[in-house]
Amino acid sequence: MKCKRCGGKAEVKLRQHNSAFCRACFVYFFQRQVQRAVEHEHMFTTEEEVLVAVSGGKDSLALWDALIALGYRTAGVHLALGIGAYSRTSTEKTEAFARSRDLRLITVHLDDEGVAIPTIAAFTRRPACAACGTSKRHHFDRIAFEHGFAVLATGHNLDDEAARLLGNVLRWQVAHLAKQHPVLASTHERFARKVKPLFRISEYETAVYAFFRRIDYIVDECPNSAGASQLIYKDVLNRLEAAMPGTKLSFVQEFLRSGQPAFAGETNRAPQSCERCGMPAFGAVCSYCSLVREVETKQARRMAARPASASS
Ligand code: AMP
Ligand code: ZN
Repeated sequence: MKCKRCGGKAEVKLRQHNSAFCRACFVYFFQRQVQRAVEHEHMFTTEEEVLVAVSGGKDSLALWDALIALGYRTAGVHLALGIGAYSRTSTEKTEAFARSRDLRLITVHLDDEGVAIPTIAAFTRRPACAACGTSKRHHFDRIAFEHGFAVLATGHNLDDEAARLLGNVLRWQVAHLAKQHPVLASTHERFARKVKPLFRISEYETAVYAFFRRIDYIVDECPNSAGASQLIYKDVLNRLEAAMPGTKLSFVQEFLRSGQPAFAGETNRAPQSCERCGMPAFGAVCSYCSLVREVETKQARRMAARPASASS
């Protein structure tokens, strides 16, 4: 098998692109794909400083690495979610990456500056993953606003986007389909533009890139994600992809070209400001504050129900 670019010995085969690359040419190809996504979708320019959401997993670290190599101005943001050993390792990997390259990283511990995910899960009936998503979105916007970043990049890859699309289509979630796009423009002064430069790059490709670039990342999945519907959708899509290479890419790409514009006009309601925290909200309070309120109320009720001897 020969490298498509230089004719040397290929080390990685990409069936969906019908090509193969040697190590150096794959790294070049990967970075060019990131650059093309950024430029083609008008995600940001070389003048803007981008806040990269880094979890310590392969996708977000590969994204940060590629953006730096391409000469973009970046800083990282990491949320220490408080999910036991999993979160501790994620934070360690992220901090080690930033330290080794002398990068600016903002780490926020939700135990100190919010509510840790296990507390939310214990006091509300919402699925942990949904509560975690609401919490992450809130803190990303808050931190971007407080530190003056207009754009936030996440490491969502093609597999994530295809799984999300499948979930949205299976339930015909029109409002979600309207918002599924690699670039979400800001609709509120405290709502950073959200971009996904890896939306056309598969999880397999980011794993290969991380390996070739010797990026040390957390391999374990979040313990809360076991049984999550996203994983079932990914499994189904992987089976389709094995039988028909290129399925994931055309599913997402054709949706963006033909389907998404039809939904986009449907729900373009601009948010108001949350009366509790000032962040974007579609009701009087934002979804994060209503989550925190629920936790606080139930925590207080539990404290009040305790026998007096338990608190002494
Ligand atoms: P996930 O929702 O876990 O698949 O993550 C999707 C993207 O969200 C990652 O690629 C990161 O860019 C970002 N992200 C997830 N978890 C964190 C975290 N704890 N801190 C910072 N960014 C995160
Ligand atoms: Zn709020």
